[in-house]
Amino acid sequence: MARILTESIYGDKIDSTGKIISFSRYGFEQKIIGRKDCFICGARQDGYKKFNEEHIIPDWVISKYSSPKKLVGLPNLTKYRLNQYKVPCCKECNQRMGKEIEQPVSRLFELSHQEFFNKITQNQDNHLLLYRWMCLIYFKIFYKDTFLKADRSDPNSDARIGDIYDWHNIHFIHNIARSHYSGLEIQPNVVGSTLILSALPISLDKGGIFLTYYNNPCLKININGICVIMMLMDAGFFDHNFFSSLFSDFNHQLSVDQLTEIMAFLIYGNTRLKENPVFWFKHSPSFRVQAELPKAVVLNEVEKYTKEEIHYRLVEGPLRRNNPGPETEALLDRIRREGGSTLYDENGKPVDISKITRKER
Ligand SMILES: [Zn+2]
Repeated sequence: MARILTESIYGDKIDSTGKIISFSRYGFEQKIIGRKDCFICGARQDGYKKFNEEHIIPDWVISKYSSPKKLVGLPNLTKYRLNQYKVPCCKECNQRMGKEIEQPVSRLFELSHQEFFNKITQNQDNHLLLYRWMCLIYFKIFYKDTFLKADRSDPNSDARIGDIYDWHNIHFIHNIARSHYSGLEIQPNVVGSTLILSALPISLDKGGIFLTYYNNPCLKININGICVIMMLMDAGFFDHNFFSSLFSDFNHQLSVDQLTEIMAFLIYGNTRLKENPVFWFKHSPSFRVQAELPKAVVLNEVEKYTKEEIHYRLVEGPLRRNNPGPETEALLDRIRREGGSTLYDENGKPVDISKITRKER
């Protein structure tokens, strides 16, 4: 039997128990982004539910694969301690997320790269779990920017980093991020293109656990020698069309710089598409989302951004924060003009950094 949903004055869909099944775009912006209600259940902070803080980069990642003192680089070029990089969430939802999302995902990342790859590619439920988790982290990163001052050096300004965001894409991603709570059924063709690559160990003081791209939502996560790069809103377009051939040369361990360059490739490919998938949310008979993919691969005649420009945009923040100075500026200039590829040598052969001695690097 179909459930009866009512609509709040914000346009949110609510079931007979009072649970918010879906936030309208308006409700999302007013209540979550504006008022900072619990981003999962929508409870108000001044209500009866207890609130605590949810780590943006999960606790288990910090304690097992990083360090609490590690710094996160922000778009305003300042840094934040990883263990203080949190967003408010009600206690009940926080605990449930730990059990239903974080625990099973943390077990996957204990595997070797090959075992992880097999688990995700051979089991749709695992791939879906990874997609929900990636969307959750992506959402929290951009949500956090609504708390952070755009200019920390200006005491008179109240502007926040997130003030300039358009929330259209993040509203979609938020729906996936809270799907374990709302019961949203995610059709298999909604899940974003996923690259699972083998990564060289990252040193704890250097950046590289995560990297986001805003315009064409993409998240790179690098934990325990496993790097996942996912396009969150392409409905698996690249998985279906190109992946089998595109990165098959890269079966060796890749460095942080190389992984970022692959991320740039992926985003560049996405910006070249003339048509993007369309997503549909249906509330009856059950709450579900499905995707309609373009029938054929049609490219825009004009490049919006070159691959070099996207690569530059991905690395400029981390490089300037970690190593400011003329050397970094020269490197950035080279990346913007020539690409500064770390993936291929001058003969077009893939570069295996793990085989180059430390001195040569
Ligand atoms: Zn909650």
